[in-house]
Amino acid sequence: MPRRASLWHHGPVPVTFLAHQAPVLPLKRRWPGLDGVALVAGSMVPDLAVTTLRTTPRYLFGWPMWWEGHTVGDLLRWCLPVGLLLTVLLRRLVLPTLAPYLPDCGTFHLQDLRHVGRARYRWWVIAGSVLIGSISHIVIDGFTHPNGWAVGVIPGLGRGVASVLQVVASVALSAFAVWQLWLIGRDRSICVWNDVEPTPSVRPAGELSVRVVAVLLTLAAAAWAATQTERGRTIVVMTWFVLSVAAAAVLALAVRLVARSQRRVVAPVG
Ligand SMILES: [Zn+2]
Repeated sequence: MPRRASLWHHGPVPVTFLAHQAPVLPLKRRWPGLDGVALVAGSMVPDLAVTTLRTTPRYLFGWPMWWEGHTVGDLLRWCLPVGLLLTVLLRRLVLPTLAPYLPDCGTFHLQDLRHVGRARYRWWVIAGSVLIGSISHIVIDGFTHPNGWAVGVIPGLGRGVASVLQVVASVALSAFAVWQLWLIGRDRSICVWNDVEPTPSVRPAGELSVRVVAVLLTLAAAAWAATQTERGRTIVVMTWFVLSVAAAAVLALAVRLVARSQRRVVAPVG
């Protein structure tokens, strides 16, 4: 029997990272009051649940350690708590600290991501945005996975059609998401949403060393994730992503500590 990573994942994995953001980016552009970081985090978390599949132990003190991530129940059990955690981590620590070290990428203005921590949202907007992102993910998967919920329910949508849709949707939605990101960069929308003046890109001190450490940590995460090959390709990719986020958080903390100690050294005495 062929090895299966999970009930839901047979096809192209990168879909988690760009295709699934395609529906939420226009939502944020249309309704800026929504929490964009939470929308994006929510659109990824169902697939992050894959990292928990086939772990041991399956239960810890009677508490389940496996989550499918794509069921209605998992919206509250997995997507909401993990999505909130990811949102806080990205907005409060990782993006404000590390985005200045990203290449700005021309019109995309990736460094504008350093401003995402400035806007404040009510807790129910943040939670609602995570859920909207996760629900959009589950709805799309229903049409584009051969055993998705819509397959067989909607006339004409059989397993074969769903398999074709998966490839077409991955490419088309990813291209659409890149276009949306380009528009967001072109309009400097992140600056507008966070109420800061758009500024030229920055060259922070220690730029090269932070970039080198970031690349090394990403490679280390990949090497660690590769030890999960037994559990399937999708689990490897998702494990790599989760480890990379954790590594980015550690790097961001280190950058902040160094910056703080340098300020202390530079600060005038007396
Ligand atoms: Zn999925």
